Amino acid sequence: MIIELERGRQATLDQIRDLAVRFGNRVELSEGTGVYDTVHIIGDSREFASRESYILGLPGVRAAWQPTGGYKNIARVVRGNEGKALHRERRVVEVKGLDGKARRFGGGNGKHIFVCGPDSPQTLEQTLATARMAREVGEKFGILDRVMLRGGAFKPRTRPTDWRGLGMKGIAIMDAAREETGLPYVTEVMDHNLVEQIGAHADMLQIGTRNAQNFDLLESVGRFGKPVILKRGFGNEAEEWFYSAEYIANQGNLDIVLCERGMKTLYTKGGYCRNQPDLNACTHARKQTILPIIFDPSHVAGDHRIVAENLMAACGHLVDGSITETVHTEAWRREQLCDAGQALVMDQYSILVEAVLEYENHVAPRMKTILRMLGTD
Ligand code: PEP
Ligand code: MN
Repeated sequence: MIIELERGRQATLDQIRDLAVRFGNRVELSEGTGVYDTVHIIGDSREFASRESYILGLPGVRAAWQPTGGYKNIARVVRGNEGKALHRERRVVEVKGLDGKARRFGGGNGKHIFVCGPDSPQTLEQTLATARMAREVGEKFGILDRVMLRGGAFKPRTRPTDWRGLGMKGIAIMDAAREETGLPYVTEVMDHNLVEQIGAHADMLQIGTRNAQNFDLLESVGRFGKPVILKRGFGNEAEEWFYSAEYIANQGNLDIVLCERGMKTLYTKGGYCRNQPDLNACTHARKQTILPIIFDPSHVAGDHRIVAENLMAACGHLVDGSITETVHTEAWRREQLCDAGQALVMDQYSILVEAVLEYENHVAPRMKTILRMLGTD
C-alpha cells in the first residue's frame, strides 16, 4: 500500500509505522517533489490495508493507493479507490563499496552501472588482476562510483561433473578483491540455507536463471535484506519474472535489480546465439515495475565476439546497467573453467564501456525524448 502524506507530519508517520510493524511490514518514506511525501508499506500489506479508513482519517494523509495487480510492492502504476492511476517513482537500489562510494542502480537517472568480472573466481592472482583493471576503467572514465565486480563462487552447472566453483574459498577471493580495490561485488547464491553465510560477505546477492522460481530462496533473500540481482528464468514470461521479484519484496526487501539474460531458444554450438535476448522485456519491466533493470550480454551471446553489439542494443532500451563476464587477458582465457568463450578481455571491455558512455551522453537523451513523445518512457 502507498500513502500520500503531507511533509512534516511526524506523529502520523509514527502511527503508520506502528501499525505497519504490528502487521509485519516495513515502512519506507520517499520524498515527493511537492508538499507530499509517499509512504510505502513494504511486504504483504493485506492486513494493514484492511485499516484503510483509519489511515485515511489520520492528520496529513491525502490519499491511500492499493496496487491492483499481483505484484503489489513493485508495480509502477497503482490505482486509488476511484480508479485514478498513480505512476510511482522508479526505485534506486544502492550498493556501497569499501571505497565509500554508492553504486546507484536505476531511478531513471540514465547512469549505467557496470558490473564486470570473472564468471567465477578461480585464483587470487587472476581475480585480483581483473578487479584492478576494473578499478582502472572506473578511474579512467571518472565513473568509479558506477563500477562493481561479479564472480560466482557457487556455480549452477548443467552437468554434475563440470567444475562448480570454489564455494566459500571463492568468496574469500572476492573478499580480497574488494579489500584491495574498494569495489563491491555480487555473487550467486543457490541454496536458501546458505543465504546468511554468503550474504555476510557479499555486497549484493545474485539469483541465477535456474533458480528464478526457487521460492524458498527468493523468500530467504527477501528476509535477509541485502540488495539482489534477480535474473529472469530462461523460460519465464515477464509476468512470472515480476512475480519472482514480488516474492522477494513480499518479505520486506525492495532492493531488487532485474536482469534480462536471454531465453533458451536456438542455441547453436557454432555460436551465434547462446540465449535469445528479449530486449522488449527490458522496456516492459521499466513500464510495469519500479525496479532497475540491467542486461547480461555475456550469457546472451555465449561468444565474446558478439557481446559488444548485444550490450549496445540493450542501451537502446535504456537499461540501467549491465553485468558482463570478463577475463584479465587473452592468455588467461584457456584457464577459465566456466564460460571462457564468452568473457571479454578487460582491454576490450574498457572500449565497450567508453562506447556505452558515449551512447549515454549523446544518444540516450534523444531516445528519451522520442519515448516521451510515444508515451512509452
Ligand atoms: C552467471 O552469471 O554466471 C550465471 C550463471 O548466470 P545465469 O544464471 O544467467 O545463467
Ligand atoms: Mn557465467
